[in-house]
Amino acid sequence: MSIRTMLAAALAGLAFASPALSEECPGNPNALGVGRTVEIDTTGGPAFGLEQYKIYDFLQPGEVVLTFDDGPWPHNTEAVLNALKDHCTKATFFTIGKHALWHPLILKKVAAEGHTIGTHTFSHANLGKKKMAGEAGRAEIEKGLSGVKFALGAAPSPFFRFPYLQDPKDAVSYLGSRNVAIFSMDVDSFDFKHRNPDRVVKTVMSKITKKGKGIILMHDFQKATAKAMPKLLNELKKKGFKVVHLTAKSPATSLAAYDEQIKKEFGGTGAANAKPLASVVKTITGK
Ligand SMILES: [Zn+2]
Repeated sequence: MSIRTMLAAALAGLAFASPALSEECPGNPNALGVGRTVEIDTTGGPAFGLEQYKIYDFLQPGEVVLTFDDGPWPHNTEAVLNALKDHCTKATFFTIGKHALWHPLILKKVAAEGHTIGTHTFSHANLGKKKMAGEAGRAEIEKGLSGVKFALGAAPSPFFRFPYLQDPKDAVSYLGSRNVAIFSMDVDSFDFKHRNPDRVVKTVMSKITKKGKGIILMHDFQKATAKAMPKLLNELKKKGFKVVHLTAKSPATSLAAYDEQIKKEFGGTGAANAKPLASVVKTITGK
């Protein structure tokens, strides 16, 4: 085959590929989409993310998992959701119990758009600290789960990420006994440090290019990340990366005692059946 014929064949292939893709993602022929969806059996609490846990290396070369911590948060989470939607791609959100109870509608939107919701403790406690050993740490994990469940109106996935990636042994084995999978990361965006969208894109792209694949840690809580997302997703697409969407085989099971505690503390706030703010509080005079 001559070079010209090969080129023509390649172009024909491309031409064939684009309409199919734009059908999958209306309005964006260059969408990342979802390369692969995996279902994780969390029995026994498997741990992922090669920075800390080396047992389950489930990603193929060129595959990435998009993860966002610390939400849900007004504006920033929604901006991240919009960017993901423009690319018809899916991510995993490790949400904080308190934030979920403060912003239940944003959390519900994350779920409604098909993303996976995991948890990240109740109040972003550092479980590596001495005062969080034993019962205190377990309560942070369980209240986080019950809080997210209450705000969402359904149990999230049994997926957990330790705040500050601090993973004491007793908490790791506790999560194992609760059949909750632990997620670390392969690429840290350092978005909480840089606070600059271009810097976030640059950091992620250089690290992921070097590693060739991995779980990317970002924060939908951070403005810089929310702003960086359209460019970052375009770059990932341009470099040929494929997104892997994580799903759980079964939802998390919360403990009744913590569900009760959350209900007592937050039941009166109406978190469970909150309506859109604009339908509750409407400006009738002024701007
Ligand atoms: Zn965090």
